[in-house]
Amino acid sequence: MTPQRRAVALATKGFMPVDEGDALHAAALLAAQAVPGAPMLEVGSYCGRSTVWLGDAAESAGVVLFAVDHHRGSEENQVGWEHHDTDVVDPRTGKMDTLPFFRIAMHDAELEGTVVAVVGRSPLVAATWTTPLSFLFIDGGHGDEPARLDYEGWTPHVAMGGILAIHDVFPDPADGGRPPYEQIFLPAVESGRFALLSATGSLRVLRRVD
Ligand code: SAH
Ligand code: MG
Repeated sequence: MTPQRRAVALATKGFMPVDEGDALHAAALLAAQAVPGAPMLEVGSYCGRSTVWLGDAAESAGVVLFAVDHHRGSEENQVGWEHHDTDVVDPRTGKMDTLPFFRIAMHDAELEGTVVAVVGRSPLVAATWTTPLSFLFIDGGHGDEPARLDYEGWTPHVAMGGILAIHDVFPDPADGGRPPYEQIFLPAVESGRFALLSATGSLRVLRRVD
């Protein structure tokens, strides 16, 4: 990643630590080698922080990165919750709107030729999705239901040999919320369709093997 792009990632609001962003980037490059030409997809972009790392990898692989988010925030981003930021509330609606932040991040990172924002509810988009993916990153809603729906709706679209990356996987409940672990990571491994490749912080990288 260029120093300029890295600077944009670091200046963008969000929840992606640098070492995990770098691991995400490496995983996306690995996916592009395994499944050349197939697009990548991120569920949960927020202000575009992780999207900069993934967009850079997609650009170098010559593929498109779809960035799916309704930009209204997850439960834990709402007023009164731990990860709320008043800067991302649209005063006209009183609702969160991270799309303007996402847009400026993609502009500043010069990724508008690679990243395609899909603004909508994840299950709604997944329901009509048909294109095989080389790389899928799930970092959307972290409640039981949203996590389960993301697992069910998106993981079948990972091409054989492609990569599934999951964020905020906490096997120890003391470290954080359970749904990404219980509703996405465990079912993926237990299904026999995915094998664990690596772990960096709360990021888990799996390969589609069946
Ligand atoms: N990957 C980001 C953080 C994502 S936070 C980073 O690196 O900083 C989770 C995001 O998921 C929020 O922006 C929220 O709007 C989105 N999200 C949660 N549930 C969703 C759903 N059902 N459909 C679409 N987006 C959703
Ligand atoms: Mg996350």
